[in-house]
Amino acid sequence: MSPNTYRVKEVFGPTLQGEGLHAGMPCLFLRLAGCNAWDGRAETRAASACPYCDTDFRGGGSLDLAGILARLDAQRGATVNPGLGLVLTGGEPLLQADAELLAGIAAGFAWVDIETNGTRPCPPRPPNVFVSCSPKRVAGQDVVVEPDWWKVLIPDQEGFLERAFASGKPVFVQPTCPDGGPSGPLYAENLQRCITLCLSRGAG
Ligand code: SF4
Repeated sequence: MSPNTYRVKEVFGPTLQGEGLHAGMPCLFLRLAGCNAWDGRAETRAASACPYCDTDFRGGGSLDLAGILARLDAQRGATVNPGLGLVLTGGEPLLQADAELLAGIAAGFAWVDIETNGTRPCPPRPPNVFVSCSPKRVAGQDVVVEPDWWKVLIPDQEGFLERAFASGKPVFVQPTCPDGGPSGPLYAENLQRCITLCLSRGAG
């Protein structure tokens, strides 16, 4: 068992994966703490790489792999669905995730989606571990990961679209909610832009 420890913000579920190739499938979530795109404080959000971010990834507790697996087992409870997956998210999970963590969590789930901003390479991973990249422009940090699919936030990260299409991997678009959630008028504009993109570039 790995001697490494990881800062874990929360474990929750079962719920449904809302994004990417496993959208709609049952899963648990494992959220690692910390991000390199924003320090998580409200007063610095507007100037960060992700002014729309509404995730609380600060704090958390230190756990080793055995502790994480025990937390996941407890969270799974009586759920026996053999198709249950796990979403490894953050913050930015690839600031902490190593090969030992990926192998350990992959053994207990049908699939694992890593949700990353792309600025860190992914360690070696079992074949049922997938990389979902929602690329972000973080100052001084390139997008270096080789994802299995892209999720491009519209319009804030639309500049990544051509690169995503050129990779030949599936591309998902998602509107940002810059004005307080999906009831705001800017969200409606962003959603319309996504629909226009899908109508003009989408494939079946
Ligand atoms: S990379 Fe993700 S978690 Fe980090 S600040 Fe941006 S949207 Fe939030």
